[in-house]
Amino acid sequence: MAPTTTTASAPAPASALVRHRPVIARGVTDLGHTSYRLDCSCGTTSKEHSARRLAEWDLGEHVATLPKVPAGQQCRDAKRHDRRHWEPCTLCAGQASLFDLGAEVTA
Ligand SMILES: [Zn+2]
Ligand SMILES: [Zn+2]
Repeated sequence: MAPTTTTASAPAPASALVRHRPVIARGVTDLGHTSYRLDCSCGTTSKEHSARRLAEWDLGEHVATLPKVPAGQQCRDAKRHDRRHWEPCTLCAGQASLFDLGAEVTA
């Protein structure tokens, strides 16, 4: 039986917006110690640190360099929309242009 190889290598859609999802990546140094470093989805990585706190510092520094989101595009429901405070939210931005539909109508 010939092995069936299904290679689904669909190229990622070219997105104009680079997403930043920084995480603290754990690694092991040459000496066998645990190391920590910033590893962002945009490709930014920091050098390895022996303390997680230092990597978190790099993470904060990286986020601080990101452009600020205009007030009208800030997400008001970050958990539901899966947005970070440095990411503009198209969902909330669209709602902002409308009138407030959140008013409950009690008949
Ligand atoms: Zn980034
Ligand atoms: Zn939102």
